[in-house]
Amino acid sequence: MAPTADIIIIGAGISGLAAGCYAQMNGYRSIIFEASDLPGGLCTARSHQNYTFDGGIHYIFGTGPGQPFYSLWQELGAVPELEFVNQSEFMQIRGSQGEVLRVHSQPDQLQAHLLELAPEDAKLIEGFCKGVRKFKEFDLSMLQQKPKSLMTAADWARLGKQVLPFMGVLGKWSQLSLRDLAAQAKNPFLRRAMPHMFAWPDVPVMVGMSLLAYLDNGNAGFPVGGALSFTNAIEQRYLALGGEIYYSAPVERVLVENDQAVGVRLTTGEEHRAERVLSACDGRRTIFDLLKGKYINRRIEKLYDGHLPLHSQFQVSLGVAMDFAQQPAWVTHLLEEPVAIAGQDHCEIGVKHYGFDPSLAPPGKSVVSLMLTTHYHDWQTRYNDGTPSRDAEMLIDRMEAFYPGLRAAIECMSVTTPLSLEKATGNWQGASSGWLLTKDTLPLMIKGVPKRLPGLDHFYMVSQWTEPGGSLPIVALSGRNMVAEICREDGRTFEVSVPN
Ligand SMILES: Cc1cc2nc3c(=O)[nH]c(=O)nc-3n(C[C@H](O)[C@H](O)[C@H](O)COP(=O)(O)OP(=O)(O)OC[C@H]3O[C@@H](n4cnc5c(N)ncnc54)[C@H](O)[C@@H]3O)c2cc1C
Repeated sequence: MAPTADIIIIGAGISGLAAGCYAQMNGYRSIIFEASDLPGGLCTARSHQNYTFDGGIHYIFGTGPGQPFYSLWQELGAVPELEFVNQSEFMQIRGSQGEVLRVHSQPDQLQAHLLELAPEDAKLIEGFCKGVRKFKEFDLSMLQQKPKSLMTAADWARLGKQVLPFMGVLGKWSQLSLRDLAAQAKNPFLRRAMPHMFAWPDVPVMVGMSLLAYLDNGNAGFPVGGALSFTNAIEQRYLALGGEIYYSAPVERVLVENDQAVGVRLTTGEEHRAERVLSACDGRRTIFDLLKGKYINRRIEKLYDGHLPLHSQFQVSLGVAMDFAQQPAWVTHLLEEPVAIAGQDHCEIGVKHYGFDPSLAPPGKSVVSLMLTTHYHDWQTRYNDGTPSRDAEMLIDRMEAFYPGLRAAIECMSVTTPLSLEKATGNWQGASSGWLLTKDTLPLMIKGVPKRLPGLDHFYMVSQWTEPGGSLPIVALSGRNMVAEICREDGRTFEVSVPN
């Protein structure tokens, strides 16, 4: 049977859509098969009774014209068409005695606030804010602009020159987690609150600094209309470039002949053939299910043996007949008395509302998300039936103390656990970003994860599982770079375009 496409792509998350767009820009006929009925994977949303419940993204790097990653989104059709909301306060952390840590993105404002809160920690605070100022000039996209295999000596020299002025801050702040830094604080509230400034205590300090720097630069906006409007813009770009997508079309097997990928079989039994197959979905599922673990080596086995950290969360999204617009957009409450969720005690509960984007709820009403970090295994052992409503109710009861009337105002609710996210997107353990970026996994991110499998030709992998730490611009670049490599294999010059 003749191939039906040049490239079959598995998954219409941001990495798959991006790979599809660049394939089409370079004259390859591509087809995407997506298991869900919607595009976006982790970057999506669902509507419930006139409320839009977002999958949970907070910001997208690259939304500021002319700034790092902007040209990527321009090529993919997401900017300048969409509007983005920029926030000057990332989060508030509230202690049980009424203390408040405001995470301002503007470093002078942040420094003044923190010094007022904890004057005894002046040295630590000034060092942190100095780092944020420095990262305002750092181009995070520089390491991913080109696949490493295509970098010439001149590219490496240019990169070295770009990185050189930042060697000091990178060396100092990449090997320290926010938890480590907070442990050095003398002020008890700062010590308790600081690890939660980015909802991710093990984040390398340089990542948190970059986030604040990009927020302050206006380069980390939230798309008006939510994650799905962002995804839809990229899906439309792909279709306009001539790509084809099939939804509710889960791939069950990658077809292989003579150790060469030749197509896919869907769960319906339908088979489709192509010159090349590119997986843009969960890495573990791709290697061990779709390819039955036939193409692995020691390094790949080790990556997926469970020793590397993952992040997953419990999220209760509520549509409430209450106006939260005057509340801070995101508050992490530090509880004195823990709340037990999936059998584990939790003392940090995030409450986020989307009042800054009125398109997500009817007038005078709000979408509110209650969030906490949780472990897949806690859910696996207790909730194989996937109905964690008791935990959601418990969380709502506890939040009632902070938001009186919350329970009575609830009009609809959606609960996400690591199990349900795994089922909905295929991501191993419901992981939100592939392997979690910590000071220990940072070298893995820089070194890169294999994007081809040993002994298998014409098969490629992209996604948050080939770029530890994930995130939207990085997975989109993963798709872009893989098409650049395919072009090189075929002796073609990699071309990009922007929509008219
Ligand atoms: C709560 C939360 C908050 C986040 N916040 C941010 C943020 O603020 N900023 C940011 O940049 N990033 C954020 N991220 C991370 C970011 O969303 C992800 O890293 C990124 O979306 C991953 O894209 P992907 O294409 O690699 O994978 P996915 O989004 O997982 O896409 C994979 C796609 O493949 C499909 N699929 C799976 N198996 C099959 C199969 N067998 N056949 C066909 N299709 C299949 C899935 O349905 C899915 O659509 C967040 C993630 C979460 C969960």
